Amino acid sequence: MRTVIEQLKQAGLDFSDSRENGRNVFVKCVFHQEKTPSLSIDKENGVYHCFGCKAGGSFESLMTKLGAEADPTDRPSDIDRYLDTRSERRLQPPTEMLLGPVEFEWRGLGPEFLTECGCRHWKQVIERGMSIEFVDRLWIPIRIRGVQVGYTAPSVIRGLRPTHSENLRSKDVLLGYDLVVPGCELVVCEGPADWLRLRSLGVMATAILGTGSWSPYKLSLLIAKAPQKVILMMDGDEAGRKAAQAIHKDVNRIMDVSIYELPEGKDPDNAYLIDPKGDYGSDNINEAFWNPLIEQVNQIRESVPV
Ligand SMILES: [Zn+2]
Repeated sequence: MRTVIEQLKQAGLDFSDSRENGRNVFVKCVFHQEKTPSLSIDKENGVYHCFGCKAGGSFESLMTKLGAEADPTDRPSDIDRYLDTRSERRLQPPTEMLLGPVEFEWRGLGPEFLTECGCRHWKQVIERGMSIEFVDRLWIPIRIRGVQVGYTAPSVIRGLRPTHSENLRSKDVLLGYDLVVPGCELVVCEGPADWLRLRSLGVMATAILGTGSWSPYKLSLLIAKAPQKVILMMDGDEAGRKAAQAIHKDVNRIMDVSIYELPEGKDPDNAYLIDPKGDYGSDNINEAFWNPLIEQVNQIRESVPV
C-alpha cells in the first residue's frame, strides 16, 4: 500500500521546499500562488489545511485537486486510547442490538429530551460463557455530514464503561456534529454526558470522545461549521487540561478560541448536576458562564433562517 506522501509525490505535488513539523509536512499550496510553503498535510491521513488561503479537506479531495485518485486506505483505529480494550472485546460484538424508545431519566435528563437528541434505549446482550446478561445503555448515534458513522453508548447504570460501535475511529468523529448550527458559538467538550448536559442547557456543543482523539480532520470539521467562537470545556483534570492546551494551539491559528477551565474534578455534566446553581465560591459558573452563553446562543439561533 502506498503511503499518503508517496501518493501525493506520484500525483505531482511539489515537495522541493517542504518542511516537516511533527506529524505534518508543509508544502507550497496548490490552491493559491505562494513562495513559501503554508499548506500543511497530515502525513498519516492526508488531511490538509492551508494557513494562507484557508483551503482544507480530506486526502481524497487533495488528490482530486491534483488530478489523481487516492488509493483506498485502511487507517488504524485510535479508539483504544479511550477504551479498555479487554472489556471492549468482551462486550463485542453487539450481535443483537435491540433498540427501543427511551423511557427513563438519565442523569436527570428526561426521556423526551434524550429522544430529541437521537438517543435510543439499547438492551445490550452480553454472552458470558453459556449464560446471557443484559446491560441497559443509552444509545447515541454519531452522524457526520448526514452519514451515521457509528454510535456511543454509555451505561444507564453508573460505573460501567461506555461502549462504541466496533469500527468507530475516534479521530474521525465529533459527537453531535450534525446538530451544530453553522456560525454559532460552539463549546467543545469531552464526552457524551457533557454533550447532552450542554445541549439540555441550550448550549451548542460537540464532544471529541476522548482527550487523545483530537486530529487535523476534527479541525477541518470545525472549520466547516465556521463557528463565531470556539470554547474548549474539557474535564477539570490533568488529561482535560492537557487536551485543552493542545487543541487550543491547533485551533487558535485559524479561529477565535478560548479555554474555559472547570474546577478540579468537575466536567460540564457533573458541574451542573451536582450543583445546578453552579456556585463554586468565587467561581460562579452559572452567572459568569452559562447565562451569557445561553443568551448568545439563543440570539444566534433566532437570526439563523429556518
Ligand atoms: Zn493556500
